[in-house]
Amino acid sequence: MPEGHTIHRLAKDLNKTLRPAKVTASSPQGPFAEGAAMLDGKKLREAEAWGKHLFLDFAGAPLLHIHLGLIGKLRPKPIETPDDEGAIRLRLAGKDQLWDLTGPMVCALIDDDDAAKVTSKLGPDPLRRDGKADEFVTRLLKKKVPISAALLDQKVIAGIGNVYRSEFCYLAGIDPNTPANSLDEDTARLLWDMATSQLKQGVKLNRIVTRDPKEVGTSAGRIGNDDRLYVYKREGQECHRCGDEIRLLEIAKRKAWRCPTCQP
Ligand SMILES: [Zn+2]
Repeated sequence: MPEGHTIHRLAKDLNKTLRPAKVTASSPQGPFAEGAAMLDGKKLREAEAWGKHLFLDFAGAPLLHIHLGLIGKLRPKPIETPDDEGAIRLRLAGKDQLWDLTGPMVCALIDDDDAAKVTSKLGPDPLRRDGKADEFVTRLLKKKVPISAALLDQKVIAGIGNVYRSEFCYLAGIDPNTPANSLDEDTARLLWDMATSQLKQGVKLNRIVTRDPKEVGTSAGRIGNDDRLYVYKREGQECHRCGDEIRLLEIAKRKAWRCPTCQP
């Protein structure tokens, strides 16, 4: 599932490529034809992300709410020759760029009350200006579940998925099984600051690179896909820092990873 950095990057790119011209909207697959008709010919005021949710505000239309879920994709395509690959739920075309939405978990037009209901279920987002460290710290330190599960709870922090949460536990030197409420406030703040800087970098690079570039001897943008993470999906391989074997765990029915030496 795409994590928060992907959704924030999409919001940025949508704002850049669909404004300020009128947008042509259609639903080649069909089921969202009525919704697309309500957006067709409208101007995008702003695309905005909150965690894994994307909201598009068109002038004179209800708010468009998108959640990509597990398999959804929102992809840019050339405006002249877009392919019709996949079941395209929604196609948005600006002046020079076209976007195709396929397989979303949510694609709906909603009013302000519905939007408030969605955001009331979300915790602070480290990439949003209204994302507050204090709120994260308070919510995290109340959780009795393992830290790795608490970081996936969108009400604790919005936008974190399995890759980031596994890597954050490693970078903070925490065993992913440690109960969240046993951590101290300094550690919680460290996790928030880590989330902020890591997700910002994720938006910039449009992929997750948690590895310290100094260890690889190149810039973050040039780190190859095999070298860019410390623990995620690296079970059986050597820890980049200590050489110990990365272990695979199951925590709250999700896979998690740990270096026994770096995360005692
Ligand atoms: Zn290690």
